[in-house]
This record gives sequence, structure tokens and C-alpha cells, in this order.
Amino acid sequence: MASQEIETLASALAKLPGLGPRSARRAVLWLVKRRETALVQLLAALTEVRERLAECDVCGNVDTQNPCAICADPRRDQRALCVVEDVADLWALDRARLFTGRYHVLGGKLSALDGVRPEDLSIDRLIERVAAGGIDEVVLAMNATLEGQTTAHYIAEKLESFPVRITQLAHGLPVGGELDYLDEGTLAQALRARRPVG
Ligand SMILES: [Zn+2]
Repeated sequence: MASQEIETLASALAKLPGLGPRSARRAVLWLVKRRETALVQLLAALTEVRERLAECDVCGNVDTQNPCAICADPRRDQRALCVVEDVADLWALDRARLFTGRYHVLGGKLSALDGVRPEDLSIDRLIERVAAGGIDEVVLAMNATLEGQTTAHYIAEKLESFPVRITQLAHGLPVGGELDYLDEGTLAQALRARRPVG
């Protein structure tokens, strides 16, 4: 029977994606054994993240600067905008270094089941960015799930009246596949073979 403190830490860790109660307990034990090394490093990293990470006001990315390094980079193509559901998708695409434009993070996907409505996502902000002009192409990089595709169609309709080319990632993505889990080759292929919406 572990102490209350250890139980509290284990249940906090168990909430992390990919960790269940069992692996959380193992992680706690691992950290306890390395209290002066790994635990100190983890604490410092967590504190740093808590103090410095912020959401980019422009695109919704998470970074230690605002606007984020991508939005602030003058070498990025300002005419191309890639719309993703979550920051994890942005990071996956940007790791692959295939897209030279900028991003827009929606903060989720439309879902009747989970009660996520258009106003819950950063869709108005996206429309504002497109309406401000200077953008030629909007790439809808939603996940190949039913909800992802519903979201893509909704946005495509909203952007219809603007003079921009609207494309989406090519088929070939696994159904229900989350961008974050795809290897870079598959992502590259889906981005290169992107096609007009409609
Ligand atoms: Zn940004």
C-alpha cells in the first residue's frame, strides 16, 4: 500500500495520454529511484513549460514565444495556410518539413456526439485570417475520421466566397488515422497529392 502522496502522483500521471494506472505506478517508482537525477530534471522541465509556454495568438500553436516561431519566421510562405485540428497535428506536419506555409489550429473537430459546435473551434479566427487577404491556398489537413471530414466540409463552405484555393490532404490516409501517428512518408504523400475540395 503506497502512501497518499505517491497515490496522488500516480493518479495524476495516469491521466496522461497513453499511460494507464499500471504504467503510471511504474513511472512513479522509476522516478522515486532517480529522485536526484531524472526527477529533478522532470521538475525543472515542467516548471519551465508552465512558465514559458503560451498559445500563439495568430495560429494557436504552443510555443515559448508569441507569435510562435513559425508565425514569426519571415521565410515561411505567407500565401499558404494549413488548417489542422490540434497542435499535435501541426507538430507532426512540421516535423516532416514538407509544408512551407503557416498553420491554423482549430482546437478540435466538430462533433455532435461530444457537443462540439463551430463556435467552440477557432473557425471565426480562421475566416478573419483569410478575409484579411494575402492567402492563396488553404490546405484542410483534417484527420480522415468522419468528424474530421465533417469539419473540413464545414470550413470549405465557409471559405467558398473568398478568392482562395481550398485543398485537402489526399486519400490514402488510413480511415480514422490521426496525423500525429503517421510516418513522415505517408504524410508527405498525402500533402504532395493534395486535391481541391468539392
Ligand atoms: Zn503561430
